[in-house]
Amino acid sequence: MKKLLFATNNAHKLNEIREITTNKFEILGLNDVKFIGDIPETSPTIEENAIQKARYIHEKFQMDCFADDTGLEVNALHGEPGVYSARYAGEHCSYTDNNLKLLAALQNKKNRNARFRTVIALIYNSQLFTFEGVVEGSIISQPRGGEGFGYDPVFVPDGYNQTFAEMGAAMKNTISHRGLATAKLISFLDGI
Ligand code: IMP
Repeated sequence: MKKLLFATNNAHKLNEIREITTNKFEILGLNDVKFIGDIPETSPTIEENAIQKARYIHEKFQMDCFADDTGLEVNALHGEPGVYSARYAGEHCSYTDNNLKLLAALQNKKNRNARFRTVIALIYNSQLFTFEGVVEGSIISQPRGGEGFGYDPVFVPDGYNQTFAEMGAAMKNTISHRGLATAKLISFLDGI
């Protein structure tokens, strides 16, 4: 089985990706290589952040690895929070803080359209490859659902009535930004 190191400290993402890739790859987390610390993500775009994270971990461990970066882009907010999605409500803020700030910013806005965008940067045999996944949807006015993480309770993907936090991981993974980007990653690796 191929081994790939996923350069993330986010346990939710590691679990999601392990569910998507079960039986195909052994996905190692940073705990498995005893990495403790933060991975710098100081770039101005989602794509550059993903590349920065993958390069950082590749330099440290010299293993095939990948990193992802995700942003929520809201039309009425000119694409915000975008690359700043994690710290939208400030450094060290909670998911709830971010959701409350987002709902406040959208109060009285008619256009609730938004999308999640994920870019995965893979370093395989020291070469860089990127894969993008996008899911269109809208931001509702009250959080709903207890699963998932981040902005999941306020995001309803187009064509569905449930938020990502209501539909659960299995359904979310089939249609989500990260699910789509991961499917591209896997199909690439399968073709190697
Ligand atoms: P990251 O930089 O890729 O970790 O993502 C930035 C932020 O986007 C996270 O802190 C979450 O708030 C949010 N985010 C990323 N992926 C998801 C998702 O699948 N659902 C909901 N929010 C997400």
